[in-house]
Amino acid sequence: MDDETEELQIVCPLCSEEHSYRLAVDRSYVLYHMTSAMMDSKPTYKRFKRIFTCPAKNEHFQAVVRLEESFGTIINDVKVVPDDIA
Ligand SMILES: [Zn+2]
Repeated sequence: MDDETEELQIVCPLCSEEHSYRLAVDRSYVLYHMTSAMMDSKPTYKRFKRIFTCPAKNEHFQAVVRLEESFGTIINDVKVVPDDIA
């Protein structure tokens, strides 16, 4: 189970600029036969409320991240990767 990182752009509620963040997405892959009943269903989305830091003001704000659970995957958790860990 490896974390994948995804880029995310958020319009900052504090300074109205757009910042980009990296998210570490903890995703599980489920076996095909377990999810075959879902084949006709639309993509589902999961919402995670996370704390982000505005790099301009160095203040925190909350934002809701919406991620698509594509067929055969389950999103367990999402973490914001701090910018200073390059
Ligand atoms: Zn900002």
